[in-house]
This record gives sequence, structure tokens and C-alpha cells, in this order.
Amino acid sequence: MKEEMERLIDLQQIDSEIAGFDKAIAKCEDELAKREQSIEQKQEKLATLQAKIERLSEKQKENQEEHEQATARVKDRQNKMLLVQTSREHQALLKEIEENKKLAKDTEERALQFIEQLEQLEVEAKGLNNQCKGEQDLLKKEQQSSAKEIKRLATAKKSIEGERAAKVAAVQPNYIQRYTKLIARRSGLAVVAVQDSICLGCHMTLPPQQVNEVMKGDKLNICPTCQRILYFREEEDAQEESLVE
Ligand SMILES: [Zn+2]
Repeated sequence: MKEEMERLIDLQQIDSEIAGFDKAIAKCEDELAKREQSIEQKQEKLATLQAKIERLSEKQKENQEEHEQATARVKDRQNKMLLVQTSREHQALLKEIEENKKLAKDTEERALQFIEQLEQLEVEAKGLNNQCKGEQDLLKKEQQSSAKEIKRLATAKKSIEGERAAKVAAVQPNYIQRYTKLIARRSGLAVVAVQDSICLGCHMTLPPQQVNEVMKGDKLNICPTCQRILYFREEEDAQEESLVE
């Protein structure tokens, strides 16, 4: 029984390691995904900003045309003034000149506002573009290092999976069945230590009689609360392990 227990403990250790590799791989992938997402968000913002710049430039052009037309009309009406004969025509031209002068002045003021707004947006867009480029460069590097790391983890996982197969083959099938069920139902932890009369799987105190049985290790001991397989751990071992963690 003791040997069988040793194998189960080893198997649990192997499975915990495999779970650790899976977690590390997922973390690598997750970090890359987060970086990609951050870049995408910035790119979307940049696209919105560029569309805004385009619309504003369009308006700026229209305003410029309006300004030029108004200025041309002022000139044209002023020339006509030299030729008019009636005071009614004179008055009408004066009115038009005044209106167009005002329009020319308004559009000139607006032109300054457009320049200012566009400058601001372009500075913002340039900054955002630089950020995107910087993050993309960083992402490329991270992708390369992550790919290496994932490959390393996958290789380590594969080699330990080979070990696992050998271990599984050495354990009695009915124990493996129980073990496999527990792994699935108890978040990957099927074999746990008893320390200071406590099950380290569910942290409940075990009856003294059962603690004695676990210490003896003559039979398969099951935690009455979480149903995990129990083994006894010496105090020294426990301390060493907690130092490693
Ligand atoms: Zn328990």
C-alpha cells in the first residue's frame, strides 16, 4: 500500500506540474492578447481622429473658398461703383460691399480657428501614431520571446506527460479511476497531505483515529469532507515545501 501511495503522490505532483505549465502557457497567450487589444483600441481611436481631421480639412477648404469669393465680390462691386449712375444702384452696391466685407472678415476669423483646431488634432494623432508604433515594436519582440517561452513550456510539459503515462500504468486501475474523478471534481487536486490533523485539501480537522490511520498508511485514506486521498506529511517536509513556494 505504501508504494501505491507513493505513486499516487508522485502522480499528483506530475499533474500539478502539468497544470502549472498549462497555466503559464495561458498567461503568455493572455498577455499577448492584451497587448494586441490595446493596440487595436489605439488604432481605432487614431482612425476616428483621422476622419475628424479629414472632415475639418474639408470644412477649412470650403471656408477658404467662401472667403475668396467674398473678397472677389467686394472687389467686383467696388469696380462697379465707379460706373453706376443712380443713387439706388449706388446704395445697393454699398450694401453688397458691406455684406461681403463682413463675410470676408468672418471667414478669415474662422480660418484661424480651423488652423488651430487642425494643429491640435494633428499633434494628438501624431502622438497616438507614435504610441501605436512603439507598442507594435514591443509586441513583435514579445511575440518572439513568448513563442520561445511557450515552446519551452510545451516541451517540458510533453516530457512530464511521458513520465505521467508510466506512473499511471503502475497504479492500480481502481485507484486511477478514483484519482481521475477527484482531479476533475476537486480542481486538479486529488491527493493531499494531512498536517497538524488538518486535510490540506479542504482545511478541515480530521478525527484523531483517522489521522493515526493516515500515519500508518496501511490502507487508502479518504478525507470525510472533500473525499480526497490523504497521506501523512512529516513536519520537516512541510517546511521545506513552504520555503520553495
Ligand atoms: Zn479534505
